Amino acid sequence: KNITADEIREVVSKENVQFLRLMFTDINGIIKNVEVPVDQLEKVLSNKIMFDGSSIDGFVRIEESDMLLYPDLSTFLVFPWGSEHGKVARLICDVHNPDGTPFAGDPRNNLRRVINDMKKQGFSAFNIGPEPEFFLFKLDDEAKPTLTLNDKGGYFDFAPVDLGENTRRDIVLELEKMGFEVEASHHEVAPGQHEIDFKYSDALEAADNIQTFKLVVKTIARQHGLHATFMPKPLEGINGSGMHINMSLFNDNKTNAFFDADAEGQLSETAYHFLAGLMNHARALTAVNNPTVNSYKRLVPGFEAPVYVAWSGRNRSPLIRVPQSRGLSTRLEMRSVDPSANPYLAIASILNAGLDGLAKEQEPFPAVDRNIYRMNEEERQENHITDLPSTLHNAIKALEKDDVIKAALGDHLYRSFIDSKDLEWAAYRQTVSDWERDQYLELY
Ligand code: ADP
Ligand code: GLU
Ligand code: MG
Ligand code: MG
Repeated sequence: KNITADEIREVVSKENVQFLRLMFTDINGIIKNVEVPVDQLEKVLSNKIMFDGSSIDGFVRIEESDMLLYPDLSTFLVFPWGSEHGKVARLICDVHNPDGTPFAGDPRNNLRRVINDMKKQGFSAFNIGPEPEFFLFKLDDEAKPTLTLNDKGGYFDFAPVDLGENTRRDIVLELEKMGFEVEASHHEVAPGQHEIDFKYSDALEAADNIQTFKLVVKTIARQHGLHATFMPKPLEGINGSGMHINMSLFNDNKTNAFFDADAEGQLSETAYHFLAGLMNHARALTAVNNPTVNSYKRLVPGFEAPVYVAWSGRNRSPLIRVPQSRGLSTRLEMRSVDPSANPYLAIASILNAGLDGLAKEQEPFPAVDRNIYRMNEEERQENHITDLPSTLHNAIKALEKDDVIKAALGDHLYRSFIDSKDLEWAAYRQTVSDWERDQYLELY
């Protein structure tokens, strides 16, 4: 999808684009954007738009605040939804320092750095197919989100039970207009919960797509009077929302490096080493893949989310599943990731973990095809099954001990991530919840 500056100029005038949204992502995975009127187009195209980096979480201190936006032209897109003041187009940008060098605190620059390391090892692409799940909640009279779900449906249900169906269909239509190849969309297990899967792409584009996806889902849900949330566990007692990450490495010649027609189970040595890397770094990865206090309310037994570090070709309870498909679709599915993760940081960390397994030629422990939740601690030990961290605090401690995942983030991002998460944990620790008052107020 190479598009030149001239082609952008042409589309902008032909489609009556009036505003340009320049997007980037902060350390918490939140999309930030600067909107400029179309008469600034030349300034945009020559990388001259500045913004104040000190007001973005995890960027820079106040004394070094001016940052530049370098638009990635291949991400140019006119939003299909109109505005009465003319159309809005967006460009995803890389953040650069005032001297023009790439800014190390930009998650997107950082992912590109890790991808380049991978390319030096002879791979052409790290393919990522995400499966984001989300809830649709009703709005109140003031258009604020409530905790009332908008349907009572369950897995693969359809209308009239699934009132979210029209909303979901509209979301899919918008996504397709924007160039997404939607592979499947369905009601998920919990009431009010949905999933839309789109085709895998190379890591950087996949991370961009995840950000765009969340924006589209939220925008279209609003048009239907609903609030879409990617919060990992909005309600207790029912499933939370995951964002399983399917992944594979492709070779230069566009063959899947995880596939080996002659091997047992047709999985290559590369796939096994990569898998071992994911398992060995699983605890530190959790900090990045499940970065909120709430993420850990999802990673509990009984709701199809993983709790233990294990892999399987058959069952869906472990951290990593190897789906049955082979050939070009040979892939690993990491099931712990949730949609509150910053996709740029998550994918960079996952990639570095796998590459480390490859570099060290690590072998994974054998697959666990039994239900892990029915095993006792002794049986889990015999099968080399360890626990995922149970809180954000424990995950951060694991990250602090893992040099490979720290290197995946780079110094700047690592520091800002830890600072931001320490604050979050400290704030959480000080709150007293309704659960505690219900349990203790009268008892003691
Ligand atoms: P599940 O079996 O977990 O429900 P889905 O069929 O819903 O999985 O999703 C599969 C995802 O895997 C899709 O996003 C698809 O594009 C992606 N995928 C398929 N082949 C590959 C591959 N070789 N590498 C990475 N992702 C892939
Ligand atoms: N919602 C489940 C989770 O929290 C996943 C359900 C599924 O297998 O798609 O990960
Ligand atoms: Mg699902
Ligand atoms: Mg899945």
